[in-house]
Amino acid sequence: MKVGILSRNPELYSTRRLVEAAQQRGHEVLVIDPLRCYMTIASQSPSIHYKGEPLEGFGAIIPRIGASITFYGTAVVRQFEMMDVYCVNESVAISRSRDKLRSLQLLSRKGLGLPVTGFAHSTKYTQDLINLAGGAPLVIKLLEGTQGIGVVLAETGKAAESVIEAFRGLKAHILVQEFIKEAGGADIRCFVVGNKVVASMMRKGKEGEFRSNIHRGGSATTVRLTPEERSTAVRAAQVMGLNVAGVDILRSNHGPVIMEVNSSPGLEGIEKATGKDIAGTIFEFIEKNAAPGKTKTRGKG
Ligand code: ADP
Repeated sequence: MKVGILSRNPELYSTRRLVEAAQQRGHEVLVIDPLRCYMTIASQSPSIHYKGEPLEGFGAIIPRIGASITFYGTAVVRQFEMMDVYCVNESVAISRSRDKLRSLQLLSRKGLGLPVTGFAHSTKYTQDLINLAGGAPLVIKLLEGTQGIGVVLAETGKAAESVIEAFRGLKAHILVQEFIKEAGGADIRCFVVGNKVVASMMRKGKEGEFRSNIHRGGSATTVRLTPEERSTAVRAAQVMGLNVAGVDILRSNHGPVIMEVNSSPGLEGIEKATGKDIAGTIFEFIEKNAAPGKTKTRGKG
């Protein structure tokens, strides 16, 4: 099969591993920089061009769209969908997962475990917002943050108030969330492919840090999931409409709660922590499922 990997950087570990797995399994593979694709949308037959040539004959596309290029990247994925090419994660699902509020709303509608969360943009009713989220200690987040930046633990009501007021000054969207103290500074990354958690790892922040992000000095180990954690992760991916997803959960006193669902989960951390061939597993899924016309949304909705 001819497989395209939409990625800006062929040197990234995840991209390299996907190329390797494709070649090992006898597929033809091309890494395509989505920002260099140009497209026709006016005609009956949509097409995508790259480096002066039309992109044709693909059996599957693996989108690895970075957060900073979501807008153009999802337009390229949508164009492949309009051309009836099977995309492992569809454009609509990627867009959903990139919007934290939309994701939390969708997950809550389906009754999945979430930390009690309030959100706001510019309310002056700080105390009411704090009360809605259950009072201090609270975690306050800038919606636009990644890798743990803009995630603050406010241990007292006074601290929460001043952080919320400072964030309001930035004119940012904020989340105010119940602090899951019992998670002990650790979270669990569940790597979902299809309807299964194919690997999982526990990430723990360095001593004295409540954020588990590896980028902030955290470390990863293997972990055994409970059946409830497994089904929460699989359902979260399904609700988002993602075939490949990294679902981050915290172990709370009221069961597993979802932090985030990632549509381009990195392979390096999880393959190194578990020794599993996740790139190969993604290809196994593609081999079973890729077919023309199997795109559910075709970019609609
Ligand atoms: P980012 O998307 O920037 O990584 P997260 O919302 O995932 O931000 O938060 C970073 C880390 O902080 C999480 O992985 C988790 O370890 C910790 N954390 C976030 N929210 C909470 C919370 N409500 N309770 C306890 N720990 C939290």
